[in-house]
Amino acid sequence: PKAIEKGTETVSDDVRNVIIIGSGPAGYTAAVYAARGDLKPLVFEGSVTAGGALMNTTDVENYPGFADGIMGPDLMDGMRKQAERFGAELITDDVTEVDLTSDPKIVKVGDDVYRAHAVIVATGSQHRKLGLPREDALSGRGVSWCATCDGFFFRDQDIAVVGGGDTAMEEAIFLTKFARTVTVVHRRDELRASRIMQDRAFNNDKIRFAWDSEVVELHGEEKLSGVRLRNVRTGAEEDLAVTGLFIAIGHDPRSDLFTGQLDTDDEGYLVVDAPTTRTNLPGVFASGDVVDHTYRQAITAAGTGCAAAIDAERWLQDRG
Ligand code: FAD
Repeated sequence: PKAIEKGTETVSDDVRNVIIIGSGPAGYTAAVYAARGDLKPLVFEGSVTAGGALMNTTDVENYPGFADGIMGPDLMDGMRKQAERFGAELITDDVTEVDLTSDPKIVKVGDDVYRAHAVIVATGSQHRKLGLPREDALSGRGVSWCATCDGFFFRDQDIAVVGGGDTAMEEAIFLTKFARTVTVVHRRDELRASRIMQDRAFNNDKIRFAWDSEVVELHGEEKLSGVRLRNVRTGAEEDLAVTGLFIAIGHDPRSDLFTGQLDTDDEGYLVVDAPTTRTNLPGVFASGDVVDHTYRQAITAAGTGCAAAIDAERWLQDRG
């Protein structure tokens, strides 16, 4: 498309039907549906995290349709190609600014200004990391952020969970279905989790606790073989032989870009008018993990991405 120069900014002179921000399962699925709905969507994939959270893992065994499982990056590559096949236009850049209150809506990448009638937000959420060397390298190789996704791989093994909140206890309890032992590593000497979750964890024979402790080192070359723990009170260190480490210290929804425009809950997740994907602004829809703090699965993200494309299509149609 032609472009109009405006000061330092370059404004595209065409107004898109729909711009999709994000290229995880939610964004690509929205792109497939919008493209097949003849909306010619423009997708901003992001730069560093293009393809989304599954680019950082190995086997995905719970995405329906892949009986033998599929590697995370292969699944995302397939979704990307599927979106392109139907005419989605993909740009591997980060959106830096938006004005979703204007008509048409404005989406900027630096000085490049894009315009669209509808916008689908699918920016996902960032799992909090411990910040240890090789944490990313061992992701999907023993280090995990999702018990539902990876618990099955740790049958009869000794594993650890880091965290002291409700999510950490839920993960620990769930993991006892598979693991031989689950050691909960927590920085304090008491849990933050609700009383009921604490009681369940304390009453579970397979769960042990490493109190006042933090993980300071990850062992293992190809796969995790153990972790080094440090007692935060005494400074004493010890090794714990585990083949799995589940990090459950929280997620940060990537919603900063929309602050002051889209409604969020206390934790920063975008609020939608469920079961639709409508946000507080007309023509703006949100899907995937930037909305969802309950399920956080590829298939649920894909599901709401599909819903967002259908919602956008109907909104554009009603608008005439
Ligand atoms: P994401 O996949 O997080 O994608 C977000 C997208 O937004 C990215 O493409 C990013 O580049 C883009 N983005 C963000 N900000 C911007 C911006 N400013 N401009 C442009 N683009 C932007 N789920 C399963 O179902 N099975 C599994 O086995 C499984 N394993 C997992 C393993 C790991 C290590 C992790 C971290 C997660 C795993 N999950 C698994 C969870 C699953 O990956 C997520 O639930 C899912 O990816 C969420 O999809 P999403 O599209 O909402 O967000």
